[in-house]
Amino acid sequence: MTEIGHGGYPIKERILGSEEAKKKIQGLTQYPIRSQLANEVIDITYGYFTPLEGFMGKADVESVCKKMRLKDGKTVWSIPIVFDLSNEEIAKYGVKPGASLVLTYNGNPMAIFEVEEVYEYDKKSMAKDVYGTDEAKHPGCARTYAYKDKFVGGKITLVSKPKINPPYEPYFLPPLQLRKIFKEKGWQRIVAHQTRNVPHTGHEWLMKGAWFQAYGELSIEKPLVGVLVNAIIGEKRKGDYIDEAIILTQDELRKSGYFGDHNHLTSLTFWDMRYAGPREGVFHAALRTNLGLTHHMYGRDHAGVGTYYGAYDAHRMLEALQKELTIIPVYSENWLFCPHCGEITSESLCSHKKEWQKFSGTLIRSIVQDGVKPPRLIFRPEVFDLVLECAEKYGFGSPFVDDEYLKNRTPVFEIPPLK
Ligand SMILES: [Zn+2]
Repeated sequence: MTEIGHGGYPIKERILGSEEAKKKIQGLTQYPIRSQLANEVIDITYGYFTPLEGFMGKADVESVCKKMRLKDGKTVWSIPIVFDLSNEEIAKYGVKPGASLVLTYNGNPMAIFEVEEVYEYDKKSMAKDVYGTDEAKHPGCARTYAYKDKFVGGKITLVSKPKINPPYEPYFLPPLQLRKIFKEKGWQRIVAHQTRNVPHTGHEWLMKGAWFQAYGELSIEKPLVGVLVNAIIGEKRKGDYIDEAIILTQDELRKSGYFGDHNHLTSLTFWDMRYAGPREGVFHAALRTNLGLTHHMYGRDHAGVGTYYGAYDAHRMLEALQKELTIIPVYSENWLFCPHCGEITSESLCSHKKEWQKFSGTLIRSIVQDGVKPPRLIFRPEVFDLVLECAEKYGFGSPFVDDEYLKNRTPVFEIPPLK
């Protein structure tokens, strides 16, 4: 059965068997790619980016920047997916329309790139359109300015599947696989929780609130509504939680019974955050539609950074596009702890404003760094213990990314040699 993804397009994997792959790469020039591009090669070839079949050409990039649509004029798309090369590389590797390259990662062939177009695009205008600012200190703009001289558009086909390293293997669930799991579970509605965090109880309640909202008016005995935690795994910044802690603690909420197999699943998507705020929110809607989800949680300052976006800008942009999207946004405020109520509540619910304890990043960070077990109403003890365990096992003593982690961590995936 055809699975339908974003924009009504079918989800197709672009992956060759090893015999065919070996034949097709013979005689082609090899070009080594960096991790951002390797992540996106996985996203393209497994259907996470449906309907994209490769890196964008100029018409798509222009349409995405100016109109937030692909060049077909109708499919909502908010972030350019581009492949950059320097002028020297273009000459050295003979990159021109009609040529094909073998993209390699960690020394092994990963994908075939059929070059259709080599073009220039003004980076400042790209940054301004996507991020609403052209300031170089915005991390998304910085990424845009770091692109090399030219962009190359064309189709991508995977020739060697990634080998996912522990502890991530169970969480790599591409769109077609994930949709099969949802069918087995019989879930009728599934709500996405986008995360790059270790969950405190505020996050837990965000998920529970979204679950109730997605459950809505369903009148069945046992509600078959699930929450999919989809952790973004990609380039890390110092001070972020380490990836191992994020993925394992999110799943711990299910294992420890705060959720269960019947309503909670953790998975990952490879993507280097752009911090594009509202536009990244729209991008997440397309991505999670492809994963087979019906609902998507959007909290305060979704995918934002610094003070570039208003707290509810993403909500407003999604509202404006709602008719064109199939996924249903579930909007929420932050949840907080109210000692007076003695429970987790939301800013618009109780009136004990003076007593509220907000889950600021700094508060959580100091709790974790002190290693003193916080009240279970703030942090689940199983989650907290696991954070400390991950710090020892994977983080060189810290649950937060530092230089040592960046240098010595185990890669999340590798491309094995073609056999
Ligand atoms: Zn209260």
